[in-house]
Amino acid sequence: MPLTVSRLVQALEPSATLAMAAKAKELKASGKTVYDFSVGEPDFITPRHIREAATAAMNAGHTHYTPVAGIPELRAAVAKSYRQRHGLEYSPQQVVVSNGAKHSLHNIFTAVCDPGDEVIIPAPYWVSYAELVKLTGARPVIVATQESDDFKLTRERLQAALTPRSRMLLLCSPSNPTGSLYSPEELTALADVAIERDLIVVADEIYERLIYGNHRFASFATLRPGLAERTITVNGVSKAYAMTGWRIGWTLSPPHIAKAMESLQSQETSNPSSVSQYAALAALEGPQQCVDEMLAEFSRRREFVRRRIGELPRLSCCEMGGAFYAFVNIQAHLGRTYRGARVDNSAQWCLELLAQQSVATVMGSAFGAEGYARLSFATSLEQLEAGLARIEAFLKSPA
Ligand code: PMP
Ligand code: GLU
Repeated sequence: MPLTVSRLVQALEPSATLAMAAKAKELKASGKTVYDFSVGEPDFITPRHIREAATAAMNAGHTHYTPVAGIPELRAAVAKSYRQRHGLEYSPQQVVVSNGAKHSLHNIFTAVCDPGDEVIIPAPYWVSYAELVKLTGARPVIVATQESDDFKLTRERLQAALTPRSRMLLLCSPSNPTGSLYSPEELTALADVAIERDLIVVADEIYERLIYGNHRFASFATLRPGLAERTITVNGVSKAYAMTGWRIGWTLSPPHIAKAMESLQSQETSNPSSVSQYAALAALEGPQQCVDEMLAEFSRRREFVRRRIGELPRLSCCEMGGAFYAFVNIQAHLGRTYRGARVDNSAQWCLELLAQQSVATVMGSAFGAEGYARLSFATSLEQLEAGLARIEAFLKSPA
C-alpha cells in the first residue's frame, strides 16, 4: 500500500499567513533586514505579571493534566469577564478552553457540522475558516462583500446566499483581515436573519479588546433576547494580552455544545497546557492596564499606517475600527512590470515586494479577495516607517 495523503488533507490549503511569516523569517536568517508585516501577532512580550503567574504555577506543581475543558478557575474567569463586560450570563460549564482560538474553531465545526452542511463565510475572511470547515465535510459558502460597505456582510447579501442546507454563519468583528468593525445595528440586522432562518452563528471576537477611536464593540450574543442559544462565541488571550505562543483560546456556547466539544477534545488533545491556563487566568483576573497600554500603541500605529497609505499613489484601505490590520487595495498597481518582473495578481505583488524590497505582507487572494494585500501593524513604528517607505519605492519602481 503506497504511503499517500488523505483526500481531505490533500484538498487543504496551508495557512498563507504562516507561510508568508516563514518566508520572511527565512530571509531574515539569511542576513537580510526584513520588514515583516505578514503574521498577525503582537510584537510585545507577554506582560510581566502574567509570565510570573506561569512561573509560580510551575513551581506550585501545576504541571499535570487538568480537566479537559480547562481548570475551573479559568472557566469561571471567562464566564465572569463576559458577564462584567457584556452582561451575558454563562456558567463555567459553558466555557471550553482549548489550544488557541484556532483549535476552538476546529472544535466548533467538528462538533456541530455534518457533511453537506453549508457554512456561510463573508469574504474577505481569515485564512483558516474555510479550510477548517472543509475538514469536517461541510461546505464553506463564500459570500463576497464590498469595499464600499467596509467589507461588511449586509442582510441582503446574507439572504441571497441562503439555501435549505445553510446551517451556520461565521462572523469576525473586528475583522481579520480588514480591521472593519460591525456596528450593533449592522449585527442586529444579521442576527434577525439568523433567527428567522434558524442559523447557528459563530462570533469570532478575538480582537474585541482592540477597538479604536469612537468605534463601539457589541458582543453578538447580546443583540437579541435568546440569541445566545444559537451563538457560539470564540475568544482568547492571544491578541489582547500578547500571548500567541501560549496557545489558549475558548468558546462560550449552549451547554450541550460545550459538552460535545469537551468530549471531542478529550479524545483529541486532552487539556490545553496547564501552565498556559494559569497564565491566562492571571491575564483575565490581573490588572488590565497592560491591555490599555498596548492598545494605545496599536492606535498610534494605526494612525500612522492610515496616513501613509493615504499618501501613497493609488492605494486605499477601509476604515479600521479594530484589530491590527490594513487591507490595502492594490488593484491600480497590478498588470504592470516592476524592474522587469510582471505582476498580475496579489500573490505575485506580495512575493515581488518581498523579493525586491524585503517587505512581507499577505496576498488578498489567501483571504478570498483578489486585488488586495494585508498589512499587519502589530510591529514597531520604526519598522512601519521604514517598511512603508520601501512600499512607496516599490510602487514607484521603473518597469
Ligand atoms: N480568529 C482570528 C480572526 C484570528 O486572527 C486568529 C489569529 N490566529 C485566531 C482566530 C486564532 O488565534 P489563536 O489560535 O492564536 O488563539
Ligand atoms: N491570526 C494571525 C494572522 O492572521 C496569526 C497567524 C494564523 O494563525 O493564521 O496572521
